[in-house]
This record gives sequence, C-alpha cells and structure tokens, in this order.
Amino acid sequence: MKTIVTDSTEEAARFIREGGTVAFPTETVYGLGADVFNEFAISKIFSAKQRPADNPLIAHVGDVSQIELLARDVPDPARAFIERFFPGPLTLVVPKADKVPSIATAGLDTIGVRMPSGKVTHEFLKACGTPVVAPSANVSGRPSPTDWESVLEDLEGKIDCILKGEPSRVGLESTVVDCTEDVPVVLRPGAVSIEQLRKVVPETVAITETDGAAMRSPGMRHKHYSPKAKVILVDPTDVRRASACRGSCAFIGLSAPPDNSSLTMIVDSTEEYARELFGFFRLCDRKGIGTILCETVPEEGIGTALMDRLRRAADSMLGP
Ligand code: AMP
Ligand code: MG
Repeated sequence: MKTIVTDSTEEAARFIREGGTVAFPTETVYGLGADVFNEFAISKIFSAKQRPADNPLIAHVGDVSQIELLARDVPDPARAFIERFFPGPLTLVVPKADKVPSIATAGLDTIGVRMPSGKVTHEFLKACGTPVVAPSANVSGRPSPTDWESVLEDLEGKIDCILKGEPSRVGLESTVVDCTEDVPVVLRPGAVSIEQLRKVVPETVAITETDGAAMRSPGMRHKHYSPKAKVILVDPTDVRRASACRGSCAFIGLSAPPDNSSLTMIVDSTEEYARELFGFFRLCDRKGIGTILCETVPEEGIGTALMDRLRRAADSMLGP
C-alpha cells in the first residue's frame, strides 16, 4: 500500500469517507483515524498498529452536536466537562449508542469521546462528515508520535494517508475521565489536570491501580511508550552524580545533565518536557542510544501525566 502524505484536509478526509485510514494531527499526539461506522476501516487500524483487540479507540468529533451519534446518554457531569473543556485534550467515557460497532470500543458498552482543538484538525474532522475513531498513530507499544515524520517512521506502507500538520502542542495523550457513574473517575492523567476537573465537578476522583485501573481503562494494562533504549528515572537531587550508564547515555530533564550524557535535552518547564518527551525517545532510538536518564518532576498539573508516562516507559528508578 502506498501512503499518501498531504497537507490538504479535503484530500485526507476523502480517504476517511471512502473507508480508508488516515493519520492526522491533534494537540495531544497524532491519531490514526477511520470512520466510526465502518467496521472494516476500523479493523485496518488494529492491523496497521498491531493493536490488541481488547484496547478501545477514542471517537473524535468536529462538532459537539456529533456526540449524539455516539452516546446513548450524556450524564450531567459529562455535559459540564464538555461545556468547559471542549475542544481540548480531554476524553469523556459515556454509554455507547447501539449504532456504533463494537470493534470501535473493543466490545465495551461505553465509548470515549473527544473534540480535539486546532485549526487543521477541526477542518479535517468537519470535512470527514462523520466522527472519526482514532488511537495514537504509532505501532503499539512505541512512543506516541508528536509529529508527522514519526507517523511515517512507524506506519509507512500500512495506512492510506498522513495529514501533515504542526507538531503536537501538548505531546501527551488526552486525560480520560469515566463519566458513566455518579462520580467522575480519571482513568488516565493528561493535560487537563484533576485540579481543573474538580473546579467543574468537585467529586471527581483519580483511579488508582488498586481500584482496578487496568480493568476500567483497558489500554492501561498494555506496555506503553517504550523506546528501544533502557529508560531510567532519576530524582533531581541525584542527576549530577548519575553514572549508571554503560555505553551511550542520554538525558532529558530540567537540571544540568550528568557528565557522561552524549545526547542531552534540557527543558525550561514541565509543559516543554511533556511536549518533547516522545520525540526525544524516538531521536535516541535513531541514534542507537543505550540508556536514557529521565529526571522526575513534581506530580502536579501536567506533571502528573508526565510522571505516569515516565513510569510506564521506565525500566527502573536510579536509587540513591
Ligand atoms: P490511545 O488513543 O492509543 O491512547 O488509546 C485510547 C485509550 O483510551 C485506551 O487505551 C483506553 O485506555 C482509553 N479508552 C478509550 N475508550 C475507552 C472506554 N470506552 N472505556 C475506558 N477507557 C477507554
Ligand atoms: Mg496509544
């Protein structure tokens, strides 16, 4: 299969309307989309990504009114979150409409719904004329792509089209909130923080592993975000004396790097760290780096989501 790379939202949308698969930019990461009502098109997403069939997809809308096509019911807390945060990096899990094929939600009776922001994304979704289901546009297990070149690296020849856009502004996947019960539950942290969600619905809670996070958010039980290099987390106070690397070593974080780092990315803020992380992982792989040291950050705001991804990618934490 030849993969067309285009910056025309109309050309890309035509592939969706004709039952194809299209990678497209969003503010979180690039997604790999298909028409939510086309089972065969959706099956092509799972095979291109080698995605486990038990991992549900998120449905993306270009307009809030399309949510009616996807959801059997939109509970009050979900309505409040839509009002405040759509379009934005937030996915709401709500009861699924019967018309949505079960392959889209991995057999679940619920569906994750999101309205991404950004001009190109919005134009594309509008032109599709249907909600578009899309997981991240990477081979399963690899770091999510935050630019179109990373999509090409993973999926060239396996998908119909890549819509070129700017690199993703956030760089981490959306916050996922289960709104199917009385109390909203954050299943996956993202750029919309629990502090922000609680300003809208104060009862909102974060799921913990002991609450069965892996059961309620199927994607969380799969290995994620891993570069080929070994990932080691390091506390800010230990960075300077970190010499755990044998062979080539890279560092990303807010502090000055350890002496033996041959590839370094110093970021100015937690937001920049989040935006750059997955791209840095991929750069390290291209350069054949053996070990990546990642500095830890405080767990507040987007720091919670960043630490979640770092822990899932990590092989170990450097002890004192
Ligand atoms: P990705 O876009 O690749 O990050 O994958 C979407 C993720 O959203 C899944 O792995 C789940 O963790 C979560 N998700 C999507 N739909 C649902 C749902 N109906 N219920 C719970 N979690 C969901
Ligand atoms: Mg993914």
